[in-house]
Amino acid sequence: MSENNQVNMEKIVSLCRRRGFIFPSSDIYGGLSSCWDYGPLGVELKRNVKDAWWKAMVHNRDDVVGLDCSILMHPDVWKASGHVDGFSDPLVDCMSCKMRWRADELKEQVCPSCGGKLSEPRQFNLMFKTFMGPVEESTNIVYLRPETAQGIFVNFENVVNTTRKKLPFGIAQTGKSFRNEITTGNFIFRSREFEQMEMEFFCMPGTDDEWLEYWRNERMNWYLKLGINPESLRFREHTKDELAHYAKGCYDIEFMFPMGWSELEGIANRCDFDLTQHARFSGKSLEYVNNESGEHIVPYVIEPSAGVDRSVLAFLCNAYCEEPDKDEMRTVLKLHPSLAPYKVAILPLSRKENLVKLAKEIHTSVRQQWITGYDDTQSIGRRYRRQDEIGTPYCVTVDFDSLEDKQVTVRERDSMKQIRIPISELVKTLSAKLCGEPFDVLPPGGRCL
Ligand code: ATP
Repeated sequence: MSENNQVNMEKIVSLCRRRGFIFPSSDIYGGLSSCWDYGPLGVELKRNVKDAWWKAMVHNRDDVVGLDCSILMHPDVWKASGHVDGFSDPLVDCMSCKMRWRADELKEQVCPSCGGKLSEPRQFNLMFKTFMGPVEESTNIVYLRPETAQGIFVNFENVVNTTRKKLPFGIAQTGKSFRNEITTGNFIFRSREFEQMEMEFFCMPGTDDEWLEYWRNERMNWYLKLGINPESLRFREHTKDELAHYAKGCYDIEFMFPMGWSELEGIANRCDFDLTQHARFSGKSLEYVNNESGEHIVPYVIEPSAGVDRSVLAFLCNAYCEEPDKDEMRTVLKLHPSLAPYKVAILPLSRKENLVKLAKEIHTSVRQQWITGYDDTQSIGRRYRRQDEIGTPYCVTVDFDSLEDKQVTVRERDSMKQIRIPISELVKTLSAKLCGEPFDVLPPGGRCL
């Protein structure tokens, strides 16, 4: 199904587990359905994805600021937003095998597992409930947020008052969300605890169509710039009957996952629904006052809402390659350098004391700049394979000649080409390569091998 025909979900799950990207949650207890833990490499990859988003959405712009809200919020927030009454999926039970399904996802009205007869659909609210304080009674119910967006809307006034931002401007947030999904699966694609990257962009009514167009292109370009194959991405416009009642337009960015085209991110024109609802329920005016004209308006909102875990999965699937190397196959993760967990790995050819000393010195200087691996076990060929498999763009080999000529060998992950360069030029050279300089451009004293 996938554009990348070498990849399937089993290979991704197995690589993630084997190399410490992602483990099942509570693994030693047999796992917890649809919950996942990010291991030493996964946590770096995930962090790099969030950093790339934050950089593009907040740091590199003048018109967006950040926020980090609490997961637990006043229960009225979810009444105002419509989640208490409307955030539900239709659930059906199989009368024979008792499996549960989302009615809107079934192609036929018989159980996909055993072919049995299904019950009438009933609405199942996806919000997780818990209790605030020691007494478990209905007045103490609070919800784990099912999206990060509402924290942004309820802070609209705080942000306007403290930043003096003028329309149009956005507020961005990344963080955990929870949904008690009826059906989960496809690894980290759909889980009950996940992370989102959301931005609410407030604009003048009447400019909203243009901003929707602008943001859907920005967001598509973000994935492309981070190396996703254009053939594996597409827009899907929501049909009128799919749109939420308050929304004027919505596009999904879909990725060709191993199980087929599926949503990676949604970009919606939410009009003035959220601010109007929160103004009504809180009794606070959430109008924006134009200083020059004195006009009071409720801004319209364009919302690009992306899943961190789904992005991680898309980047992994997109990067996964198997290719022949001499008489073996190698597995390579061709991750964009800015996403790769390690940018560089230092590999001393042997564990001889004088070589290790030099390799450690090099490691110390390189790690000031980037997260850098160090590996002195097994053959050099095996060590290259290991770094390929976790997506490290450059390996630096320190050999016995290095002690004499003060040079090291740098190997590029994707082409497997090697260059020999002076140690004194190493950091500068790696810096240039990581920013996209062709590998065969050499520093003074360097040569291709
Ligand atoms: P779906 O139709 O797949 O359930 P949705 O349309 O309900 O998704 P939104 O409410 O638009 O999703 O959430 C925005 C983004 O958050 C999604 O595009 C997705 O990347 C991510 N997301 C939503 N639900 C989950 C989940 N259960 N697990 C992982 N990521 C999720």
